[in-house]
Amino acid sequence: MSTPVYKRVLLKLSGEALMGEQRYGIDPKVAQALAYKIKTIYEMKVEVAIVVGGGNIWRGFQASTSGMDRSTADYMGMLATVFNALALQDSLERIGVVTRVMTALQMHQVAEPYIRRRAIRHLEKGRVVILAGGSGNPYFTTDTTAALRSMEINADVIIMQKNEVDGVYDDDPRNNPNARKFEELSYMDAINMGLRVMDVTALSLCMENKMPIIVLNLDDGNFEKAMLGHKIGTLVR
Ligand code: UDP
Repeated sequence: MSTPVYKRVLLKLSGEALMGEQRYGIDPKVAQALAYKIKTIYEMKVEVAIVVGGGNIWRGFQASTSGMDRSTADYMGMLATVFNALALQDSLERIGVVTRVMTALQMHQVAEPYIRRRAIRHLEKGRVVILAGGSGNPYFTTDTTAALRSMEINADVIIMQKNEVDGVYDDDPRNNPNARKFEELSYMDAINMGLRVMDVTALSLCMENKMPIIVLNLDDGNFEKAMLGHKIGTLVR
């Protein structure tokens, strides 16, 4: 079986996915490795939109706990996602993947503004669309942005990339060897059990609009396997 079961997917990458072993920022080698994984899906002709986070550079909420105005701190977080989007674009284009970066906050010299219909057109033309700047609103996260954009572009599924775990567990598998992995979960279970799938606002949005989520680690060809319909990671629906 080599035909993908999904036509259009939204990949949510945390900022930390670009950080590697560093404590902060972007490791170009890690970004390049990530780009190769995305290229595999691109070559399968699956349409890919990516929402990238910014937590490897700046998290608004954390800064606000030290006294900074929350909205200002959040706008800085949104700008951090643009750093990541440009690094990812560079890594992808270097290996022949055609991309467009679209930002929720306008910055014409660096990227296109996010316009829903234009984003869909890019996807139809086979370009990987990198969505930066979060939702453009403070007090939100890039998880919520991923949920929102997935619906706007009519994606079939959200792929939630996790750095160190290959799905959703009932406890942290890095500390507890007996932690149990869920193959499948309902939205309500994920919310009620406080499992770290995505934040509650994002989960509720997915639940209301019946958007399935696959939580996985991109290692070992997992992204490709998930696109082919293999049971990889945890499916939330
Ligand atoms: N952010 C925001 N509105 C959005 C998306 C992001 O204000 O719609 C800000 C927020 O401060 C957040 C930061 O951008 O902390 C980085 O995003 P996030 O924490 O979601 O990144 P990730 O954890 O995925 O790396």
